[in-house]
Amino acid sequence: MAQHSQALDLEEALTAIRQQLPSPQEQETCVLDEALGRVLAKPIDAALPLPPFVASAMDGYAVRSADVNANSAYTLKDVGTSFAGHPYPNPIAPGQCVRIFTGAPLPAAADLVIVQENVADQSGELVTFVPHTTQESHIREVGNDVDKGQRLAESGERITPFMLGQFAAAGISTLQVFPRVRVGIFSSGDELRDPGTPVEELAYGQIYDSNRLTLAKLLDDLPIHCIDLGCLPDDPNKIDDALQLATDTCDVLITSGGVSVGDADYIVERIRAQGELAFWRLNLKPGKPLAFGEIRGRWIFGLPGNPISTIITALLVAKPAIAHLAGTVMPTPMKIPAILKSSITHTTGRTEYQRGQFTFDGSGYSVTHTGEQGSNRLSSFRHANCLIEVDKAQGDMHIGDQVLILPLTNLLH
Ligand code: AMP
Ligand code: MG
Repeated sequence: MAQHSQALDLEEALTAIRQQLPSPQEQETCVLDEALGRVLAKPIDAALPLPPFVASAMDGYAVRSADVNANSAYTLKDVGTSFAGHPYPNPIAPGQCVRIFTGAPLPAAADLVIVQENVADQSGELVTFVPHTTQESHIREVGNDVDKGQRLAESGERITPFMLGQFAAAGISTLQVFPRVRVGIFSSGDELRDPGTPVEELAYGQIYDSNRLTLAKLLDDLPIHCIDLGCLPDDPNKIDDALQLATDTCDVLITSGGVSVGDADYIVERIRAQGELAFWRLNLKPGKPLAFGEIRGRWIFGLPGNPISTIITALLVAKPAIAHLAGTVMPTPMKIPAILKSSITHTTGRTEYQRGQFTFDGSGYSVTHTGEQGSNRLSSFRHANCLIEVDKAQGDMHIGDQVLILPLTNLLH
């Protein structure tokens, strides 16, 4: 494993991860109903054309275009009806028309649908149409949407609701997908208690573990099995035992906390003892200590423990890495220019991601940060809908400056 002793920029870290992590080798069959968010292991081709028959695009009358008159009103004989699912069975003869509805098959010999609005008069079987041209046929030819055999999706694509709709329409019922990645999540720290422990049982110096829950839900939409592995004590032997067990059952381990240089920070040391460390520091704020390594063929991300550092590194590093392991292209976050409406104090050296709230002001986006940005302050996410990127080479930023923002909706999916 390539080892980097120096601090890496975010992009360098993602490249190192991409180079290290393998693509999935196995695949499994999945029915459409369970395929949302999974990654295709084989391309999908349409089993039939769409539409499969010439269909009406409007409610109206199916006619022969030779019968249409552009200069004066004309009358045709209504000989039957073509409903969606109940086609009119016969060809139509000259002078005839068939009442037809959207999605119904066009009767043989008809080549045009006249929209209902062009009917001037109806008496018994006779329908009189106002004069009109035949420029718009109002029919959908076979394959007008998709040809038979047309490639609908490539291997490596993540399945969206829109794709599922198209697969269903095109006669596909099962898909080959890559297996879900088994992701084990640990917290670490002697001070942590499980959420739900009564407040009065919280001893002085203890806090609730919020990271495990947040991490599990941040990763939730990826094609993974999320395994809650509980909380690691600040004890190297117990950490060793837990990592040993976890590498038997998980493809990826994510820990939070215990990854810095404190006297009770053992995660980096135990990764080194049991496996290999690829890198440990990023030029990122928050999120400077972030360990990535391998233990017995499993991958481990040691995220920093401060809740905001955990969230930012999970969104920007762990999540794309797991997407890559799941067989899809590592996503790159959407970045949008916006004008700062509040100033930012920033020391050069590390690229910073502040929590911000952006709005569209009619001509472009403007953004304001959400207040004090301490990496312990979960409340900095209150009302946040984006991250504000402040480049490592950038000094203080002022109202009116242009920044790049990363909408959270894009980072979450
Ligand atoms: P550490 O990286 O272990 O030094 O932790 C940094 C800070 O994050 C400390 O204040 C920890 O108490 C806090 N912290 C670590 N893990 C968690 C967690 N799972 N939930 C909430 N806070 C945490
Ligand atoms: Mg700790």
